[in-house]
Amino acid sequence: MDRGSHGEELGRIIDGAAIARRIRDKLAGEVEALAASGVVPGLAVILVGDDPASAVYVASKERACAEAGMNGLTIRLPATTTQRDLLDQVRALNDDPSIHGILVQMPLPKQIDPDTVIRAIDPTKDVDGFHPINVGKLLIGEEDGFAPCTPAGVQELLVQSGVNTLGKDIVLIGRSNIVGKPMAALLLQDHLGANATVTICHRYTRDLAAHTRRADILIAAAGRPKLVTADMVKQGVVVIDVGINRVSDASAPKGYRLVGDVDFDAVRPLASQITPVPKGVGPMTIAMLMKNTVRAAAMHAARVSALRGVAIGEMA
Ligand code: ADP
Repeated sequence: MDRGSHGEELGRIIDGAAIARRIRDKLAGEVEALAASGVVPGLAVILVGDDPASAVYVASKERACAEAGMNGLTIRLPATTTQRDLLDQVRALNDDPSIHGILVQMPLPKQIDPDTVIRAIDPTKDVDGFHPINVGKLLIGEEDGFAPCTPAGVQELLVQSGVNTLGKDIVLIGRSNIVGKPMAALLLQDHLGANATVTICHRYTRDLAAHTRRADILIAAAGRPKLVTADMVKQGVVVIDVGINRVSDASAPKGYRLVGDVDFDAVRPLASQITPVPKGVGPMTIAMLMKNTVRAAAMHAARVSALRGVAIGEMA
């Protein structure tokens, strides 16, 4: 148990970087086995335009692919790319048997409708889990789809940190399609790391603190620095901070630093466990993207061998 400067007990830090590291090491072994059977998992990332935050994120995906022994392909397109050209690119990747996962980095330039692009991705290659087919599968609990990487990473953090979610009150702040809604769907399933009673709060929630104070597990994904303060949580809460906010800081080398949605120093003494920002949820998102891609490749390999079986059966 860590203690603060006045000897007070502090919540245990959930080390997302270390947990993500273990997952990526295990995946490298699975990639090796798949490669030995003739299938090297391939992830294609399409980056349109030159948003600096997206470029950083895509570069770390590239590195993670290379490190895991996967085939990582990044397609960089100019900011002036038309929707038709982007859709052609997506379709070419759908038809490319060496590519098992396709990710189109958001945000897209304004001439392109993101929903149309997401729907063009083959759902069996949609490792981001945003295609309506995969969103539907997640909601009904069909497990052959793909869950979005950030909420899947949060669930994995809870499981790996020994947090029992069964019957617990879990309060989510944020109802986006990327985090809040799929997070709720994951936590509601009759499954390990789920079976929770889930409350979803958002910007129109009347009394946010009244909800968060009841939470056994609080998951913040609102994109608001220090939204969650010490008076909003109960003793013993598990806190997962999904927020990644840039706040200006003249003393930081880049002129800003990253903070979450939770006032970490104030909330930690009350929490039993808490994720930091950075090195909490962030590294898990990439680890889960790798995991989804390896699973896409394994499912592809299984479909191919089943087809071969049918073809051989037909010949006999
Ligand atoms: P993300 O992709 O991380 O989920 P978004 O910016 O898409 O982030 O969504 C932010 C979410 O946070 C929205 O659902 C919004 O309703 C919620 N939110 C923003 N501010 C507050 C607030 N002050 N209290 C409660 N919820 C909030």
